[in-house]
Amino acid sequence: MSKTHKHIPVRLSGLADGIHALDYDVPPADLDLPPEFGETVVVHVDLDKTHKQITLRVHVDTVAVYPCDRCLEPVRIPVHTEVVLVYAHDNSDRAEEENDIRDIPAHDSTVDIADDVRDAALLCIPMRRICGENADGQSLCPRPIPDKLRTENHERSDPRWDALKSLNLDQ
Ligand SMILES: [Zn+2]
Repeated sequence: MSKTHKHIPVRLSGLADGIHALDYDVPPADLDLPPEFGETVVVHVDLDKTHKQITLRVHVDTVAVYPCDRCLEPVRIPVHTEVVLVYAHDNSDRAEEENDIRDIPAHDSTVDIADDVRDAALLCIPMRRICGENADGQSLCPRPIPDKLRTENHERSDPRWDALKSLNLDQ
């Protein structure tokens, strides 16, 4: 991602106190998201300005498609998440527990929240990605699970073996 170009620019100066709604449609490549993210990232920001600070409530919506861990069929993973970012002008005398409040840059008060949006989106992807299971814990995979994962089925009698057994090979 280019460091000079702002992909999700949010201007923090010259705003009246109150709520400001901002909307962005961002190509996933602009956010350095992995190729599994193939759809536009829809970002909605509710910016709440008071004289003390500016709070950004950032909603992130998109979809990622990963192969199922069991059967490799594509699994659509909806990404709906929210992150809250707080900016203020002077953080020098803040208490320790308020350290996550960011400074409003003095010279260029338009900040880029692309990194925050990417990190929030990636956190929505679970470590284990499968087609799902029904209430009985049975896999919803549309294709057979590889044999090594279902050894229990090997113990079932196979009609082809019955046919061989019926032959008397000693004759
Ligand atoms: Zn599957």
